[in-house]
Amino acid sequence: MAKRGILDFLKDDVVLGDGGYVLELEHRGYIQAGPYTPEITIEHPDVLEQLHLEFRRAGAQVLQTLTFYASEDKLRSSGHAHEVEDINRAAVKVAKKAAGDDALVAGVITLTPTFEPDNQDSYHRVREIFDQQVALQKEDGVEFIIGETFLNLKEALIALEAIKAVGLVAMITMNFNGSGSPDGFSPEDCAKHLTDAGADIVGVNCNYDPTRSLAIAEQMRGATDVFIACQPAGYATPNPNMPFVEHALFPLSLERIQLTRFAFSEFAVKARDAGINYIGGCCGVLPYHVRAMAEALGRRPEGSEKSPDLARHIIPDVREKDDICYWREREKRATYEPARKV
Ligand SMILES: [Zn+2]
Repeated sequence: MAKRGILDFLKDDVVLGDGGYVLELEHRGYIQAGPYTPEITIEHPDVLEQLHLEFRRAGAQVLQTLTFYASEDKLRSSGHAHEVEDINRAAVKVAKKAAGDDALVAGVITLTPTFEPDNQDSYHRVREIFDQQVALQKEDGVEFIIGETFLNLKEALIALEAIKAVGLVAMITMNFNGSGSPDGFSPEDCAKHLTDAGADIVGVNCNYDPTRSLAIAEQMRGATDVFIACQPAGYATPNPNMPFVEHALFPLSLERIQLTRFAFSEFAVKARDAGINYIGGCCGVLPYHVRAMAEALGRRPEGSEKSPDLARHIIPDVREKDDICYWREREKRATYEPARKV
């Protein structure tokens, strides 16, 4: 019997993805803030594998290869352009090792510095860049490919063409800033154009928190019949015109607006109920957020063996309130003032 692919899983139930790798590995000291390129795949594959394993243990059914910014042009910014092949191949190898038989591995391609919306000549060069990455990732055995974090629809469409040209399932997610893409397309437009061009899954990732991202995903849901994906950032973005990359705390102090596990358990339920098919996270989303989403969806991944059991806490006041709902409500009322009681 043929191995079940991503589309089989999506037909059955909501698929839970993983979270963000780049910023977390920067925190851990293995990716450099600035270029944010993923040469960790060849420099410290064991460290990357550990984070993959943590996401899998938390309930992720798909592990994304760490090939964000692994295009030749972007790797040039950190002096690694000559290692584009090794970096892409190593990323697939590490993800596959961590996935084992328990998770699917998705290749990843993403926005490039070469793309210029008003320069048609750049389109051909971008296509060559994507063709190279897609060929390497396919050869090493990814199950499908996610083209993600695209600001411009036109670049997303080039990525989609490159993925479809090799016959793989394509998931394309846009990274909106404000109400649409800089090249003038609303979320509905993007969903329609990407569907017409053959995308199997379309959606939104990065830039905004779960509330804003879900609102965008719902707009896309209403515009197409293909599967919808939503992979928000793990940072609070209450202003719809201010993605986290424009926040005063970006890029080195984002912890101060990091969202809790409860924000993601709530998101998972709302997204499922809104007909979103693929739920995961992007920058700032860590394994404990993924576990919270898995449990909110009624699942019990391996990591649930260490889910909270506050009845065993040493502080009596905490011990007496061992219902997780209490702590979820308490989080909503809490401020950042150091008050013990709320
Ligand atoms: Zn992101």
